[in-house]
Amino acid sequence: MSDYTQMWSDLGLDLKGHDALLSILGSAYADIFLSQKNRPEGMKYFDFVMSEVHGLRIKELMDAKAQGRKVIGSYCVFVPEELILAVDGVSVGLCAGAEFNFESAEEVLPRNTCSLIKSAFGFKLGKICPYLEASDVVVGENTCDGKKKSYEILDPLVKDLYVMDLPQMKSESGRAMLKEEYRKFAAKLEKASGKKITAESLKKGIDIVNAKRKAVKRLTELRSADPAPISGLDALLVNQVFFYDDPVRFTESVNKLCDELEERVKKGTGVFPKGTTRLMISGCPMAVPNWKLPWIIETSNAVIVGEESCVGERGVRWMTDTKGKTVDDLIDMLTDRYFQIDCAVFTPNPSRVDYVKEMKKKLNAKGIVHYSLQFCQPYIMESGPVEKELEKTGMPTLRLETDYSQEDAGQLKTRIEAFIERLNRK
Ligand code: SF4
Ligand code: SF4
Repeated sequence: MSDYTQMWSDLGLDLKGHDALLSILGSAYADIFLSQKNRPEGMKYFDFVMSEVHGLRIKELMDAKAQGRKVIGSYCVFVPEELILAVDGVSVGLCAGAEFNFESAEEVLPRNTCSLIKSAFGFKLGKICPYLEASDVVVGENTCDGKKKSYEILDPLVKDLYVMDLPQMKSESGRAMLKEEYRKFAAKLEKASGKKITAESLKKGIDIVNAKRKAVKRLTELRSADPAPISGLDALLVNQVFFYDDPVRFTESVNKLCDELEERVKKGTGVFPKGTTRLMISGCPMAVPNWKLPWIIETSNAVIVGEESCVGERGVRWMTDTKGKTVDDLIDMLTDRYFQIDCAVFTPNPSRVDYVKEMKKKLNAKGIVHYSLQFCQPYIMESGPVEKELEKTGMPTLRLETDYSQEDAGQLKTRIEAFIERLNRK
């Protein structure tokens, strides 16, 4: 790895804290990912991306900024990358998945805040996230109460925070509100970048993001094979890299990986033996480097074959139509696409459980692990009815609540092993 110290220092990072984070990240990656057996060759690209996640990729962002392009950071899959690309901007995800500097985060946030939010604040206050420091605009969104109120605290800490108001009901007025918010966001991007969005530039942005989503959907479909051609950990990693990498290069790399997986499926080659217990995960998103639960599952004689999550199917399953001729028509198409996202902040939210059922059937999963972060009211509240509905239709479900610490790892493993045993007895 080249020496990026000067670049990190110019970004205002705390070099000591940042070194500590990279060292933890590096050893966790080696233990969790590189130790896996029978990995596809195509994962080498993603290993490389991860080894350079704070290096070469940040250098690319800095080069883009030097050419006058804007880096737009966001925390939610409701923020359309298509609009960012339409002003030649670079979209980066800012959600964090590590328990780092929580003491500082807890000085400004209530202790009973979910780990996702605490981690974002820990990264900001500790000055260890080059993506956040490189962002020209940070986009927040009114989804859950935790995020909504925490943006008031984040506002003075970042140079340009833009908060999007999001609907909470799938009504006509909710859709109209989302479209209006996308119009306002488009105007904000035009102002920040000094570039006008045209029907052509927006259509190009939509095509790039559709291609990226199609590639990941292709990967999801290949995971229906038994033996599974790729581990759940590796597939999650691809879904995580989705938020950081150059979109065109990412799409090519995922499609190349899928070509290899297709061959594996034809030959019956897998990462685990045929017949290994197949699970899927549903619930809160897992941001890098939140790999605890998948790691525990896949070291307990089970394989994860799908994620109903924003870092997973909920982030990629819908495409955007490009039939419009004007910018307004295309924003309408974007609204149609994004308004289908069934995040638990919506009430009621029946399509989510329907899709979990559909995924379970398609992927031939034996059981569902419902994953909520502690203190995440929307997903915890929804987990009871979701479990009831799934169990009623004969779909065994394990409801888990956890955080980013390792303290409950032993307890989680015991519960997961007991669940797998229950499935295998059936
Ligand atoms: S879970 Fe909801 S709030 Fe979180 S990224 Fe997904 S859509 Fe956004
Ligand atoms: S995990 Fe839950 S509480 Fe945390 S930010 Fe996401 S929706 Fe909000």
